[in-house]
Amino acid sequence: MADTHLIDGKAFAERLLAEIGRQVADLKAQHGRVPGLAVVIVGEDPASQVYVKNKVEKTKIAGMHSVHHVLPADTSQADLLALVEKLNADPQINGILVQLPLPDQIDEAAVINAIDPDKDVDGFHVVNAGRLATGQEALVPCTPTGCLLLLKDRLGSLSGKSAVVVGRSNIVGKPMAQLLLRESCTVTIAHSRTRDLPAVCRAADILVAAVGKAQMIKGDWIKPGAVVIDVGINRIPAANGKTKLVGDVATQEAMGIAAAITPVPGGVGPMTIACLLDNTLTAFRRQMKKG
Ligand code: NDP
Repeated sequence: MADTHLIDGKAFAERLLAEIGRQVADLKAQHGRVPGLAVVIVGEDPASQVYVKNKVEKTKIAGMHSVHHVLPADTSQADLLALVEKLNADPQINGILVQLPLPDQIDEAAVINAIDPDKDVDGFHVVNAGRLATGQEALVPCTPTGCLLLLKDRLGSLSGKSAVVVGRSNIVGKPMAQLLLRESCTVTIAHSRTRDLPAVCRAADILVAAVGKAQMIKGDWIKPGAVVIDVGINRIPAANGKTKLVGDVATQEAMGIAAAITPVPGGVGPMTIACLLDNTLTAFRRQMKKG
């Protein structure tokens, strides 16, 4: 049985964050300006609050300007759109992130598409999705970007490889597939209606799981020697009466079969925030260029 390499996303993300911090310090020294990120959260979803706190902290550590808006759960769509407009017009703000999910009274697509596409650091705006799909300069969603960085670090060129992405959401599955296509992989997108998913997965040199179902992808679904990226974050009961986080892949079963796999936690998760700050830096540079 071959050894399976555990891909250390935490260490990779720390290196990326340190590099972003260096670039921000250079910008400050040269231009007297730093990138600014505004994070907006509506309501008190505990998981979202943890993510937002983490994003704000990392933004400050990187030396960026950080603004954090916490709105009550009953905020109207009109009030949220007014805030987005204000941030669009604020020259100190280069990136805007509205934390999802939003409460039921708010149309998520309307809010995302109200963000200036050049400040859409989540890359969810329909203009950025279109730019990515047509090979133009885009802001690309952070989680798939993080997955791609890990894959390229591990494999170098991805050209010609068979890649299977399980999941077709707008925030992970679809942009992941676009990025892999851009790297000249042969891409299959699988979803809940896919027939014989184990056989589809077994054909993959690169298998990306973005489903949201704990340990659904079994060891014998994995092609020997494949590189597996586990995006899933699922909380399940643990032996000690507490809970623990697991991915969409049965990691223990994958050991000895896959060539490499991202653990959960410590794999893809930390890359998402690092890529968010990287997108903010990119947005800042592009806005400076435009003047
Ligand atoms: P969604 O719920 O939006 O999408 C899930 C996808 O999985 C859908 O396309 C769905 O298919 C597919 N699916 C569901 N059940 C099956 C099944 N039995 N067989 C095959 N496909 C199935 O989830 P997200 O894309 O937002 O997130 C996916 C996972 O990634 C979650 O666990 C989430 O927590 C995690 N995540 C992690 C991040 C990180 O930073 N690490 C960031 C974002 C998400 P269909 O379209 O047919 O319904």
